[in-house]
Amino acid sequence: MKVFNTSDALAVLSKLISFKTVNGNELQVAEYLQELFSQHGIDSKIIQLKNGRANLVAEIGKNAPVLAVSGHMDVVSPGDLKLWQSDPFILTEKNEILYGRGVTDMKAGLAAMVIAMIELHAQNLPKVGTIRLLATMGEEVGEAGSAAFYESGYMRDTDGLLVGEPSSIYGTASRQKGSYDLKLISKGKSVHSSTPERGYNALVPLIQLLTEANANFEKIPDGAMGPLRFNVDVLNGGDQVNSLPDHAEAQVNIRTIPEYTNEQVTDAINQLIQKYNAAGAQISLETIMNEPPISTNENNAMVTLIQKIGKNYAGQDVVVQPSPGITDASNLAKNQPKNFPFAIYGPGDMSQHQVNESLPKQMYFDFIDLYQELFIKFLNEQS
Ligand SMILES: [Zn+2]
Repeated sequence: MKVFNTSDALAVLSKLISFKTVNGNELQVAEYLQELFSQHGIDSKIIQLKNGRANLVAEIGKNAPVLAVSGHMDVVSPGDLKLWQSDPFILTEKNEILYGRGVTDMKAGLAAMVIAMIELHAQNLPKVGTIRLLATMGEEVGEAGSAAFYESGYMRDTDGLLVGEPSSIYGTASRQKGSYDLKLISKGKSVHSSTPERGYNALVPLIQLLTEANANFEKIPDGAMGPLRFNVDVLNGGDQVNSLPDHAEAQVNIRTIPEYTNEQVTDAINQLIQKYNAAGAQISLETIMNEPPISTNENNAMVTLIQKIGKNYAGQDVVVQPSPGITDASNLAKNQPKNFPFAIYGPGDMSQHQVNESLPKQMYFDFIDLYQELFIKFLNEQS
């Protein structure tokens, strides 16, 4: 006998969508989930971080092996509301498709994990081991929630990790690029533009350095996950057309690969900074976010089990390919051996971050069932 029928399951998802967790307010989701878990006899803990932001951890079962399952509670901005055919914060169904901000990324994945745990607990499962839900804040910007879980040791005793994000339709991933955000600050001396020789233009060496860095990074050969990407995303400097700027800043995002790591990027940029500073510039570097690439084996125990189980739901072989984006695995799967059982696997139709974000309703129901099967079979295999 199931605890949640399909309309109960939709009600949970509908509630999650209604919380406007656009880069914030995750505490509301955490409090709702805590209440839902407690109604079904499962203890959970809210870890408040700052300004209405929080992580939540809940466990069923006991002792080893420990399977960590993770989903984030935040969403990206809905963008231009006029382009939405429905209210992004009201779960809307049309022709068996669900619409709403976060339905694919990744409130359906989170809801499916929560419901799967409640269903298992009601059957006195797991008999061996522990299922630990790590619900995170701030995945979309900065990944501070998963960093906090990692730092507090929540991954230390785990034997496997499942991140419930979609990577392709009914597909899975065991690898993702790194993400490295840097700020470059250039100092100069402001003078009137008629006498530039008496000052120093902070923008000029910064622009030259960025151009040279961009050209150098484009020459890096592709790795197994594709190319390293170097993106200059923000450039600021100067405030008046007849004054030399004494301050300029740039922010860059680098998508790193195992063949060319975050450390190598740091070295390459520092060498350029030294070169420009030796010629009179005053450029310094600050790290905003530093997440390594994750490249677990594609035949690890989690992926292999997903391929076996997922096939029956997808009606086709489960595709294994690197995740197109970065997930909380950057933190949670950090410093694990190559054969660590890790996969990114969740419901989604790849409409994340778009207007009219959508999800086939059946895919949501499928993941509620297949997560239960996956969690238990994984723990049995590992014990
Ligand atoms: Zn996501």
